[in-house]
Parts: sequence; structure tokens; C-alpha cells
Amino acid sequence: VVDVKLSGRTRVFTVSNQKGGVGKTTTAVNMAAALASVGARVLVIDLDPQGNASTALGVAHNAETPSVYDVLINDVPLLDIVQTSPESPDLLCAPSTIHLAGAEIELVSQVAREHRLRGALREYIEIEGNHLDFVIIDCPPSLGLLTINAFTAADEVMIPIQCEYYALEGLSQLLGSVQMIQKHLNPKLHVSTILLTMYDGRTRLAQQVAEEVRSHFSHEVLDTVIPRSVRVSEAPSFGQTVIAYDGQSAGAIAYREAAVEIVARDTTEKDS
Ligand code: ADP
Ligand code: MG
Repeated sequence: VVDVKLSGRTRVFTVSNQKGGVGKTTTAVNMAAALASVGARVLVIDLDPQGNASTALGVAHNAETPSVYDVLINDVPLLDIVQTSPESPDLLCAPSTIHLAGAEIELVSQVAREHRLRGALREYIEIEGNHLDFVIIDCPPSLGLLTINAFTAADEVMIPIQCEYYALEGLSQLLGSVQMIQKHLNPKLHVSTILLTMYDGRTRLAQQVAEEVRSHFSHEVLDTVIPRSVRVSEAPSFGQTVIAYDGQSAGAIAYREAAVEIVARDTTEKDS
């Protein structure tokens, strides 16, 4: 077991990228499990109506399950919907259900519609015994009110970048969104972490993409790179993260190394 020094504060990340299929959910759940495995208490908030993060963490999320939908729309406390993943007592999940698909529209007419998640999270953390070291929010790919709720609740943005040709395309759009949120809704929000993922070191292309991203974002990119690995893609169909599914696989080792880096590179204090 690696020994890490936690800050005692709650660091709230949103995992964002305005493209689908780039590894957002995979990164959210595996990073969360990796952080829990090095001693942190971690909550994953599943804001994607698809519920892939809830599936990977092995928590119930059928139509009757109390979910993030109830928190955002019906003012239900986060405490009432949070479940513990069977993987670890320190790995928690606020599940998504199919109802969340309607929340995007229903939120439009709500009071403080951009800040609902932030309010619920603050309330949760203040309850005795509910300290969290990390909150990781998994977002849908679009920039709707669900993603905006994630951006206002978070301090840090984590961007997974797939090591392929058009990786940098679309990134300027995301950075523009972050700036807009910073200016109008959440001055603390900043891109703290970029994670290169689905890396295949055998291809020249992956190496080029990695070099290019590092040259643009030298401070944000983690040293650790997540390899493309069958074990990583198999794990969710067993309702597990790769940390539980095959802890000795290259993917699990990489996520644990990335987690240790994240704990060590606390950027919030100096930036705020
Ligand atoms: P997003 O949430 O951005 O839509 P996902 O996390 O669902 O993306 O990932 C998209 C696909 O890529 C999934 O099938 C997932 O299993 C696969 N994938 C993600 N990371 C890896 C990896 N490191 N190695 C292999 N497959 C991966
Ligand atoms: Mg996803």
C-alpha cells in the first residue's frame, strides 16, 4: 500500500471533454477507485443519464433508485441517495438513473438552476462524519445544465485526452467553456489536470499526440499515461473498476500512479 499525504480539504473535480467516447467515465471511476485504494475517501457523482459510472462502481441505479435526479429536481439531500461501492467502504457513488435525461429540461425552470449540485454537495460535506477527500463528477459530453452544475460545484477540471490525431481539436471549445464559467459562475474553476489515456506506445501517432499535448500544457499533464488495455475496457461489464477487477494489470497500476500524482500536485491553494 502506497502512503499518501492527504490535504484534509475536499478537492472537487469534474471530468470533462466535449467529445464522447474519450474515456471520461473510465477515468472518473478508475481514478476514484485508485484514490480510495491509497487511503482517500472518494465520492463519484454520476451526472450522465447513461449511468455508466454507476454501473462500473457496482451500485444500484434502476428507475426506482433514489438518484442525482432527486437531488437536482426534488431537493432530496445527497446523503439520502449516496451508496457505497461494494469495492471499498471509502468509495461512494451518487448514482444516475434514466430520469436524469429529463433533468436538463426540468432544470431550466428551477431556482438557482446552475448551483443545485454545489448546494447539495456543501450540505453533505458539512454533516458530521461525511468528510470527503475527493469528489469526482462524471459529466455527459454536452454543455447543458447538468455539465454547468458540475462546473459550478467543482474547483478543478480533469481532462482525459485520447492519444489520437484530433485530440487537440475541440479542446479550445472546452477551455472557452471553462473560461466562461469562471467569469460568470465560478471564479475558482481551473483546468488542473490533463490525463493522456488509451495510449499505445507502439504507434508513432500516440507519441506525437502526447508530445504535442505536453508542449501546450506542460503544467497540467500528468507524467503518468494510461495505456490502452483490454482489462480496463472489460472491467465495467463485471460491475467493477479495473482496480478491483485486475489490480495488477497495467491499467490498474497506471491509475494508481496517476492518483498518487494527483494527491501530490494540489493546485487549488496556490491558484485561488
Ligand atoms: P466517455 O465517458 O468519454 O464517453 P468512456 O470512458 O465510456 O468514454 O470510454 C469509451 C470507450 O473506451 C469504452 O468502451 C471504454 O471501455 C474504452 N476505454 C476507455 N479507456 C480505455 C483504456 N485505457 N483502454 C482500453 N479501452 C478504454
Ligand atoms: Mg461517459
